[in-house]
Amino acid sequence: MNDIVAEAKSKFSEFLENNNNRKTHERFAILEEIYTNQNHFDAETLYVQMKKSAYRVSRATVYNTIDVLLECNLIKKHNFGQNVSFFEKTYGIKAHHHIICTQCKAVEEFEDPQINDACNNISSSKNFKLEDISLNLFGICHLCMKT
Ligand SMILES: [Zn+2]
Ligand SMILES: [Zn+2]
Repeated sequence: MNDIVAEAKSKFSEFLENNNNRKTHERFAILEEIYTNQNHFDAETLYVQMKKSAYRVSRATVYNTIDVLLECNLIKKHNFGQNVSFFEKTYGIKAHHHIICTQCKAVEEFEDPQINDACNNISSSKNFKLEDISLNLFGICHLCMKT
């Protein structure tokens, strides 16, 4: 288990304690699955993945744990232009943006300091405390353009 996973687990543990929430093995197994194996995922995919693991968890537990993880900011929610929400771990992850192909649904990540600078400038000019930037570019990827 690497440091990020261990630290995410201790943050989660602290959050559950402070909120009088149950610390179950299932919840930590879900957190570990997200932090070790998942990049961008939807709840159903995570549920299927958990079914294959040693911990058999119910669909309700997966959905409920996702809600708790959102609450304590260990994951964030993305709109990738589909009917389902996608999620992504946040801890130990560099801030990045997404390029989403509307045909094959591929999601690519990119970083651009200039975009971040621009957002910081806009925020300070509006006396706004910037907490997060979410930028999704929708279009057709180079593979789909060929076909
Ligand atoms: Zn594509
Ligand atoms: Zn991402």
